This record gives sequence, structure tokens and C-alpha cells, in this order.
Amino acid sequence: MDYLRRAAARTQAKAMLTVLQRDHPGAAQRLGDGALDELRQWPGLQVRDVPDDRSGGGCSVSGAYFAGTPAVLAVATSASLARREFTGLHELGHHLQQTVVELMDVLLAEPDGGAALEDAACDAFAADILLPDTLTDRHITAAGPTADAAVALWRVSNASRMAACVKASERLPAPGHILLLDRDGILAFGASHGLPPLRRGSDQSQVPVLRTALSGQGHVEGRGRLAYRDGAVAGEELYLQTAAMDGYVLAVAVTDLAPWRTFAPSVRYNGPEAASYTCAHCGEDFTSFARACARCESAPCPDCDRCGCDRKVFERQCTACFVVHPAAMFDGASSRCRDCD
Ligand SMILES: [Zn+2]
Ligand SMILES: [Zn+2]
Ligand SMILES: [Zn+2]
Ligand SMILES: [Zn+2]
Repeated sequence: MDYLRRAAARTQAKAMLTVLQRDHPGAAQRLGDGALDELRQWPGLQVRDVPDDRSGGGCSVSGAYFAGTPAVLAVATSASLARREFTGLHELGHHLQQTVVELMDVLLAEPDGGAALEDAACDAFAADILLPDTLTDRHITAAGPTADAAVALWRVSNASRMAACVKASERLPAPGHILLLDRDGILAFGASHGLPPLRRGSDQSQVPVLRTALSGQGHVEGRGRLAYRDGAVAGEELYLQTAAMDGYVLAVAVTDLAPWRTFAPSVRYNGPEAASYTCAHCGEDFTSFARACARCESAPCPDCDRCGCDRKVFERQCTACFVVHPAAMFDGASSRCRDCD
């Protein structure tokens, strides 16, 4: 999983919202008010309640998507309503990405066929519908999310803990995770950025900092390695901070730049590194030592001085074949795509 995955997932989630608005005007608002009630009205879709099965599927949530006629969104019954709403939206995300051509094209361009991007985009899409950026901005500062800030964001919203985790993970200043652990230290949900995702259902109770948090302290800070397989603590050492979340523990884990510390150098840090970017606005390829924007992960373009935020035109419709393509499929301002030119 590369460092740019989060930006790709956010871009894909925004494209999914655009498709949703185009094909189902007003649905985003109705889905935010009651996702499962809304989805039960959709022709060609069936929402099915299924027993919770931690081992099932490749999803980050307790649910599954089955393509077909009708397509089936399976949602685990044992979860809270807020969590089922998040799961329903996540599975709708799979439905959109597996049935809308321009969304599928983005996945097919990925080295792994898009599996990792697809699931991450489902989480970002669900969180975008449930938790607006404006509310998130009010609770998470430019330094990034502390565990308390992520919990506070959840408290002021009607969204699920998972939606708050995804939103917080989008603001992580360095590779890391936002983890949601149940009372036994089992991973109920994880949102990762720039590090391999932890498996849902994995036991994190043997990680000392997390064990202390689970034993009743709630708020704990320290360093530790997470469990990638049950009993096997591995991965690089991360800065950890936890907060109690009504029966759960939320943990923020980062390689460096921990938002709760004034100085948190990475053990890997060996001076500034240049990275290569393509400007989202003017298309200029450039290399920069400048610090990348925490939101879009692009450094400012030397040509137009903008980062990737407020990227307005990332796809448009070809006037010849009428297919909506990514902007890269057009030469400059041409109204015809490269296939048609
Ligand atoms: Zn999924
Ligand atoms: Zn530029
Ligand atoms: Zn930016
Ligand atoms: Zn065309």
C-alpha cells in the first residue's frame, strides 16, 4: 500500500458522490438522513440483513456486496443502527464502483486491479455522506487528529464511530491508522493511511499501550507495534494515543508527526526527501522538497502555486462518444477524448 492511497481513495469517493448526484438527484441528503430506509426504495437493489460474521468478505465492515439482478447489499444485523447505516453506504459504494463505467476504469488502472482502492473508497464515500468536511474541520486541527478530537467529532455528529474513524484517518499527518477496538481489544474497524491495513477481527489486546487503555485507563499515550496476525506483534513501532469511546477504545497510531507531541521524529527520518507530483490544476509534472498538503498530499505546484485541493475538473464528457472520462483522457481543452480524436 503506497503513500498516495488515501488521496486516490478520496478522489474516487468524490467521483462516486458526483455519480450519485447525477444518477440519483437528492439521494445523498436522503442517504445521510437514513441510508437503509432510502436504499430499500431503490429498484434493482436489495438490502439483506445477515448474521454478523467477522471472518467473512474482504470488507473493512460487517457486510458484503453481491453483484447481480437484483444486486444485494448484505448488512450484519447485530451492529448498532449507526454502524449498519455506515455498512449500507459502504456496500452501496461497491455497487457504484462495480456498475458505473467511469468508476470501474479508475480501479482497473490500479496495479492490484483496484481491490484495495475500491474498499478504501467505499469507506471514504460512506464517511463523506455521514460527516461533512465542515464539521470535521471544526474538530480536527491542522496538526492532525488526537484521539480525543476524533471522539469529540463522533459525539457531535449522528454518524457511526466508523465514519469518525475514516474522517480522522483522512487528516493523519503521517502514515498510520485510526483503530476502533471493542472491550476485548478486538479490532472492530480500522482506517489506514500509507500502511498495510490491519485485519478486522484481529486481537490487539497484547499491545502494551492498548492493553493499558482497555484495562480502564481510556486515555493512554506511548509507542508500540500492532498485531498483524493474532499473537504476532509486528510492523514498525508507532506513536499511539487512545481515548475511551463509550464501550470502545479509539486509537490513533502514526509513524511520526504525532499530533499530541511537539516533537515526534520518525526513526526512519534521514532529512528531507523529494517527491514527484503531477499538478491537478495545470498538469505540470514536478519534483518538490516542499511539505505536502496534509489533505491532498501534493506539494504546491511551482507553476501555478496550488496544491491538489479544490480540484474541480477531474472528469468530463466527450462530445463525440458521450462517455465521461478522466481529464487525462483529453488533450488540453479538447472537447473530444483521445479515443475519438
Ligand atoms: Zn467493502
Ligand atoms: Zn500547476
Ligand atoms: Zn491540498
Ligand atoms: Zn470520446
